[in-house]
Amino acid sequence: MSKLKIAELFYSVQGEGRYMGVPSVFLRTFGCNFKCAGFGMPRGELSEEANNLALLQDIHDEPLFKKYEDLPLVSTGCDSYASWHPSFKELSPMLTSDAIVDRIMEIIPFHEWKDEHLVITGGEPLLGWQRAYPDLLDHPKMAGLKEITFETNGTQKLTPEFKEYLLNWGIESRGYNALTFSVSAKLPCSGEKWEEAILPEVVCEYEQVGTAYLKFVIATEQDFEDAKRATEEYRAAGFAGHVYLMPVGGVESVYALNNRAVAIMAMNAGLRYSDRLQVPLFKNEWGT
Ligand code: SF4
Repeated sequence: MSKLKIAELFYSVQGEGRYMGVPSVFLRTFGCNFKCAGFGMPRGELSEEANNLALLQDIHDEPLFKKYEDLPLVSTGCDSYASWHPSFKELSPMLTSDAIVDRIMEIIPFHEWKDEHLVITGGEPLLGWQRAYPDLLDHPKMAGLKEITFETNGTQKLTPEFKEYLLNWGIESRGYNALTFSVSAKLPCSGEKWEEAILPEVVCEYEQVGTAYLKFVIATEQDFEDAKRATEEYRAAGFAGHVYLMPVGGVESVYALNNRAVAIMAMNAGLRYSDRLQVPLFKNEWGT
């Protein structure tokens, strides 16, 4: 039986993108190929918030943070830092498909799938875990699941085996809309390099097995210009999906500074605006 290293598994409302407001089970896998330490920082500078918390975790004989709920929120860098930072890997257990499904059945309101979405997120959920998802999704209690979103940074190619599996799971048995790739492609404000983060051919391949949309995190006019440039690159490669602009801000004080400005930028460019509902609704706490 396959196992997945699970950072978080919770039931909430999707706060971002095309399925904003949809009741969803969030399965957050451990591990990411990026760090995104540039978010919320002046351009060219990197946040040390996650590393400082990691130091606190490492210097104590007994770990200071014993579960996700103990971890502080950060206002700069990746707001999901504990889902990839090695210092917090002990907080993410390896769980069998059976254990994951049992937990999902406990947390959804009717203890069987109704209209809930499954959001497979991270970290970066399309790293090595692609090989483990078929076992999870083929579990008999997962048969009633109708829709999945992969929240990805858009840098990981689908393996031929997983691509074939997804074609069968989605388009061929549940229809084209059953499978969505929410691609949060990282602009330079993330601190990641353009040539490693903007990979249109990878994202175009996602559109062969489901729908895909792009979601750019925006803090400044420069980010807006970068988002438009990146969109042109994706379009030139044949990307057909929608494009969303979303305000930076894992904490309310940062989010509230620029959500209105980003909405106006999106309107003026004929692009879609995505809120981050989890921030005003739940303060972006772990497990929301
Ligand atoms: S890609 Fe996502 S999870 Fe990975 S470091 Fe960046 S923001 Fe965090």
